[in-house]
Amino acid sequence: MKAIAVIPTTREVQLIDREAPVLSSPTDVKLRMLEVGVCGTDREICAFEYGVPPGGTSHLVIGHESLGEVVELGPAVTRVQCGDLVVPMVRRPCRHEHCAGCRQERQDFCFTGDFHERGIKEAHGFLTELVVDDEKFMNVVPAALRHVAVLVEPLTIAEKALAQVWQVQRRLPWACPVTRGPAEHCHRAVVIGAGPVGLLGAMALVNAGFETTVYSRGAAPNPKASVVESIGARYLDADTVPVGALPELIGNIDLIYEAAGASQVAFEAMKVLGTNGIFCFTGVPGRKGPVAVDTDLIMRNLVLKNQVVLGTVNAGRETFEAAIADLATFNTRWPQAVRALITGRFPLSAHRDLLLGPPTGIKNVLAFA
Ligand code: BGC
Repeated sequence: MKAIAVIPTTREVQLIDREAPVLSSPTDVKLRMLEVGVCGTDREICAFEYGVPPGGTSHLVIGHESLGEVVELGPAVTRVQCGDLVVPMVRRPCRHEHCAGCRQERQDFCFTGDFHERGIKEAHGFLTELVVDDEKFMNVVPAALRHVAVLVEPLTIAEKALAQVWQVQRRLPWACPVTRGPAEHCHRAVVIGAGPVGLLGAMALVNAGFETTVYSRGAAPNPKASVVESIGARYLDADTVPVGALPELIGNIDLIYEAAGASQVAFEAMKVLGTNGIFCFTGVPGRKGPVAVDTDLIMRNLVLKNQVVLGTVNAGRETFEAAIADLATFNTRWPQAVRALITGRFPLSAHRDLLLGPPTGIKNVLAFA
């Protein structure tokens, strides 16, 4: 069975041959993998900056943004059927009894750090022909979403962020006193970055009624700006519009959703977060050394403007379900924009270009024949 793996000790990324997995528990299911999306995390793992192979092995099969088809069921499986399309969750719980997160199936909030992540940390991923895992980690996707369902996992990042934003903002009178229509809202959001997590986040924000601006490098017109404009959001080129100009162009910024993984622009943007605003980090920056930050201004604003800063990683079951439901909505509302997020589908033989070559397009997908 074919798989794409990294071998950190010898610094190799290879198409390998491995034994097909077998069901080992009554609630296991077997998946035939259909597609796997390539993301920045995969590229970092392939640059040997991130990622840990499972204990006792030197290689890690990568891939965590996936779509599979159920092909075999253990005798006690009840949640899925053969032929179902599923997107598996990424994290697996730690074993510590005292971990409140993992013991309540919220391993995305694991306290111990001893969780595993398939394709990332101490567990093989989904860039392989067949996968076996417990049914509880599977999320069934409607067949109508077959062509875009590989976007579910990156969308969960935005969904988890937004769920927390709503919860945190319950600290204040956040509901709009005046609304002009069902989709109208009084809040303004800025998305930093126009990669898949940024664009999917922008769709989620527009869908939730935010007046949304995507702030990203690159002059319009370009494919990312076109997606932004086609969903009714606004695109601002970070190369020509300074961060300091955003409040004047936008008004009070209620939410900044960071999805670029660039700390300097993020902390610059924190300075323009509005009154009662919330700043949400989703990107993981590389380690490039310290940058100067105006901590006095940021701290003043945090206090005098009642601001909140939060970081968010990974996603639990409810978030996957919300992502599947929202992707269906986006696909009805903006079918072309959703399709445009997927730049191309490539055979496994293209893995080196996609994982090791310069980043191209929006979302590239490796598809099994
Ligand atoms: C994945 C998450 C994971 C995070 C940190 C992201 O690329 O989408 O599931 O938790 O990396 O490893």
